Amino acid sequence: MIALPRAVADILKILHENGYRAYAVGGCVRDSLLGRTPHDWDVASDAEAETVLALFPHTVGTGLRHGTVTVLYPAMAVEVTTFRRDGDYSDRRRPDSVTFTDSLREDAARRDFTINAMYYNESEGLIDCFSGREDLAARLIRAVGDPLRRFDEDALRILRAGRFAAELGFAVEGETRRAMELQKHLLRHISRERIGAELFRALLGDVAAGFGLFLKTGCLCEIDERLSIVTVGRLTACAVLPRELPLRLACVLMGANDPGQILRGLRVDNRTQRRVCLLLDHLDDPLDSDYAMRRFAADWGTDALKELTALRAACGGNTTAWAEADRLGRLLKEGMITKKELQINGADLLQVGLKEGGAVGALLEQLFDEVLRGNLPNRHNRLMDEARYRINNG
Ligand code: ATP
Ligand code: MG
Repeated sequence: MIALPRAVADILKILHENGYRAYAVGGCVRDSLLGRTPHDWDVASDAEAETVLALFPHTVGTGLRHGTVTVLYPAMAVEVTTFRRDGDYSDRRRPDSVTFTDSLREDAARRDFTINAMYYNESEGLIDCFSGREDLAARLIRAVGDPLRRFDEDALRILRAGRFAAELGFAVEGETRRAMELQKHLLRHISRERIGAELFRALLGDVAAGFGLFLKTGCLCEIDERLSIVTVGRLTACAVLPRELPLRLACVLMGANDPGQILRGLRVDNRTQRRVCLLLDHLDDPLDSDYAMRRFAADWGTDALKELTALRAACGGNTTAWAEADRLGRLLKEGMITKKELQINGADLLQVGLKEGGAVGALLEQLFDEVLRGNLPNRHNRLMDEARYRINNG
């Protein structure tokens, strides 16, 4: 029923031959049942970590304390984890201790959502202790057990709920959703990196299902009260944008006083942060002439120009969106030059008699600007003539 990759089938076979139970588990089973390609494969087994280390030639003791060994195959790395139940969670993120168990049901009970708590191998088929399959069919994210308690143990699960909803386009089941609301104050125990990572994955998925849920349950404001500027209308705009993080972040943060600071707080990488700020800083630039667009592209790149026009079109209030899109399409087809592509350079200017270094840069910039304005063609001879003329006439 599920096509196991060779490495996973091999691991299960070797564990079985040695008298252990072993299953593919979690996200890989969920995604396979949905017809999606899993991006990683996990195995759960009653074999303890030392046994797994001994049975396979290439291994890494990734998380031995938690019973996890990574088994390396040429095509992939597979995490093999001993069945376990988790102890108390005094830090609201990680169990204080884990106890290994030979009960699959106990292992399933510690997992976050029913759709993530299914096991599969070829001889036993699907083992589904918490009706994950029904929830998959109903497209629901439902906590395993009592959601209030599960979010209390590990508040990251609150964000995982919304993130899975976004990535899969699912709804969060009522009780689980209610628990998100009631337990959102626990998010303060979660590191900013992890919060950012889940939030951004949600933003790149089905925005209404994931980010919208964070908004409605109050999780967003809990994470950063400055996110109170985010509105449902804004998320509707966001949903039509391509799934690119800077673009969607800029859409969400429009109108924020200091978007850079909010993003730094969520540990966004510098590049993304700079791009978001660039888009927001130029949101109201007039792009109503060929020159204005060429100038923007020359200064910031054509990708930034495409993003800016997409953002302006999506966020409404811009009645010239069609005209902008037309203009952009035409200019892209014609090709927009960068300063590097200008058919004259500093050495040329020195050759035609310019003396000081500082003046070289200034004249190059003037010539480039004239080309962008369409007043001069980007041809070497023509630019040389113009340079001579300007040098000789001060
Ligand atoms: P994806 O890899 O697409 O993010 P996944 O479901 O594989 O989704 P992982 O973070 O790779 O998620 O974790 C693998 C499995 O481990 C999950 O399917 C779930 O069963 C369990 N799991 C992971 N994180 C938690 C958590 N915070 N609480 C409980 N169970 C978890
Ligand atoms: Mg995974």
